[in-house]
Amino acid sequence: MQIDRSRPVLVTGGNGYIASWLVKMLLEDGMDVHATVRDPSDNRKVGHLLQLAQHTPGKLSLYPADLLKDGSFDLAMAGCELVFHTASPFVISGIRDPQKQLVDPAVNGTRNVLASADRCASVRRVVLTSSCAAIYGDNIDQQDVPGGVYTEAQWNSSSSLQHQPYSYSKLAAERAAWEMARAQDRWQLVVINPGLVLGPALTRASDSTSLDVIKQFIDGRLALGAPDLDFVVVDVRDVALAHIRAGLLPEASGRHITISQTMSLLEMGRVLRRHYGWRYPFPRWRAPKWLAWLLAPISGVTRDFISRNVGYPLRFDNSYACRDLQMRFRPFEETLVDHFQQLIDDGVVKDRRPR
Ligand code: NAP
Repeated sequence: MQIDRSRPVLVTGGNGYIASWLVKMLLEDGMDVHATVRDPSDNRKVGHLLQLAQHTPGKLSLYPADLLKDGSFDLAMAGCELVFHTASPFVISGIRDPQKQLVDPAVNGTRNVLASADRCASVRRVVLTSSCAAIYGDNIDQQDVPGGVYTEAQWNSSSSLQHQPYSYSKLAAERAAWEMARAQDRWQLVVINPGLVLGPALTRASDSTSLDVIKQFIDGRLALGAPDLDFVVVDVRDVALAHIRAGLLPEASGRHITISQTMSLLEMGRVLRRHYGWRYPFPRWRAPKWLAWLLAPISGVTRDFISRNVGYPLRFDNSYACRDLQMRFRPFEETLVDHFQQLIDDGVVKDRRPR
């Protein structure tokens, strides 16, 4: 299916950490972008988009839209053939009401955006930002996966409102999206399933947990030791590019594990130490699991999370995304260094390298 590039494309949550890169690349590619945000007059949230759009061949238009307001996306979607639905809360700690804070915006928001696509005759393809969290729940679950490696065939079977509610919100949202896609035949759904995304941010106003993860390497939380915890990881710029390919490559289809590799917290610490030396509180030692379990409540995770994730390897197969979206993922070492360097350049972290 060929998308007409002269038509505008819609990006929901256009001011987010990932979406800002997506909007930038689309505009630089000469495409006109309709970006929805909750409040287009909030300069703190949209100033960076307006600024970057001053120098791009593509034109940016901002539209107000809320995931929880029915019909909110109709206006922004009018005339678009391609829709990128990225908006969804990515918050893991401090959740008091998971239904209201995570599941409602993720699931009802996705239904709301896709109901607009059903009404909007121009729409041909919707690219949904799902997550590897829709594929797996806890690292321990891998023991039940055939061959011990996750592929796009797996679905998260262990998350719930009570345990890993963010993962549950992404699982339920992706399921709802496939259900709505199958109920019609005008627009096609293509899904991106990123792992943990890191890399330089274009916005300072995002609540994304990604930006919190890197802070752990600075604020001393891991200085006494990091739990043996594996993540599947990917660069934010690669995630944006994968979205564009999923939107524009005529044959793109299905789900896509969008990761470069597996990396543990300890390995991330090692990479950063290699580049920035010993004067930062990057983790050096492996914290024993019993200690991580004991300290879980003050570390912002549950003891159940520690029991089911620490010490279990995580392996995902990204070969389908490499083939179908023609991706070559950048080495994660580069991602970490670029991200940390941005924090130094912005004055968030003091430059403590020996001169
Ligand atoms: P982010 O910067 O916090 O972006 C989330 C976006 O969703 C923001 O634009 C936010 O708008 C919007 N949003 C939240 N609630 C909304 C509501 N009720 N109505 C309208 N918009 C709402 O986080 P991100 O990391 O870029 O995440 C973007 C997407 O990628 C999410 O779907 C997330 O689940 C997915 N993802 C992220 C990662 C990762 O590691 N970062 C990994 C896998 C998947 P406001 O700015 O107004 O709050």
